[in-house]
Amino acid sequence: MEWEVVIGLEVHVQLSTQSKIFSGASTAFGAEPNTQACAIDLAMPGTLPVPNEEAFRYAVMFGLAMNAEIGKRSVFERKNYFYPDLPKGYQTTQLEKPIVGAGQIEIHLEDGSSKTVRLHHAHLEEDAGKSLHEDFHGMSGIDLNRAGTPLIEIVSEPDMRSAAEAVAYLKKIHGIVTCLGISDGDMSQGSLRCDANVSVRLKGEEELGTRTEIKNLNSFRFIEKAIKVEAQRQIDLIEDGGKVVQETRLYDSDKNETRSMRSKEVANDYRYFPCPDLLPVVISDEYIEQIRTELPELPDTKCARFEKDYGLSAYDADQLSQDRGTAEYFEQVAAQSGEPKLAANWVMGEQHC
Ligand code: ADP
Ligand code: MG
Repeated sequence: MEWEVVIGLEVHVQLSTQSKIFSGASTAFGAEPNTQACAIDLAMPGTLPVPNEEAFRYAVMFGLAMNAEIGKRSVFERKNYFYPDLPKGYQTTQLEKPIVGAGQIEIHLEDGSSKTVRLHHAHLEEDAGKSLHEDFHGMSGIDLNRAGTPLIEIVSEPDMRSAAEAVAYLKKIHGIVTCLGISDGDMSQGSLRCDANVSVRLKGEEELGTRTEIKNLNSFRFIEKAIKVEAQRQIDLIEDGGKVVQETRLYDSDKNETRSMRSKEVANDYRYFPCPDLLPVVISDEYIEQIRTELPELPDTKCARFEKDYGLSAYDADQLSQDRGTAEYFEQVAAQSGEPKLAANWVMGEQHC
């Protein structure tokens, strides 16, 4: 039997605003625990959130880069759940009216082919704090510095058909947010994290299979391995007469396996409702158009320019244009040496060292 893997990704990107999404506390990484959580982040009685305009500006920049519709009237909702690192007892997020609507991007694969991945939507929300287990024997530490850091959650349609396509999509998102300068994209610090929804179906079948969601993958390598191992687990399970259960799973990189974490919750469980402390945010066409004129050159435009101006192959131009630092470096080497093709080969060689 020939199986087809179906993948949809939910990507969380921390926005690099100076302050939090609803308070003036700093978002700088690495401070002493709990020194960057103010009364609003701690949900002290009587405090009220104030939206950070910069977070909206960044989200609109992202939406425009994804060829997406911009939500001109977006609404914050409360997603209620208990977690020790969520003192408010709810996460402020968006559900029905997100800031970024449907869009699409092209991903480029190693064999030179490309394909379109549709964006379902992207919404603004706040990050939670962190529970720390390692330094405390039999106890957990709670660090609320991260609480209230602005995030965009980017939800794709289930359009990817292999681990390689998922990685290519994620690299594309990484390239776009770093090029826009709206996130440092540092996966080791959790600035870009990914949940992978994975299902399998027989090739040719229309209906989607039951999916599982692998939480919090934070490196390109782990995402690729986790998707592969989870797809194989589902295939083995079905071929042995079993059924995939819709649930949340965790990837264990030491054992290269996924493990069940909890059964899947649905939107109803969270008792979402519009946050009474925050008014709907209305964005004008002029505001959107102003931001459009300020966008930097995006990786795909850069790629086309590299092909045309430097005579590079499509593959080389793509390799050199997706990451902002690499692209800038290549252009400097090309200008200094006057030998763009040699410069391309040399920079790509250095990349792989
Ligand atoms: P939830 O809000 O419960 O996480 P969504 O419907 O918003 O559910 O889907 C979340 C993600 O799962 C999206 O990226 C979507 O593309 C993906 N997805 C949905 N169904 C499937 C499926 N059967 N197989 C793989 N991915 C899926
Ligand atoms: Mg989900």
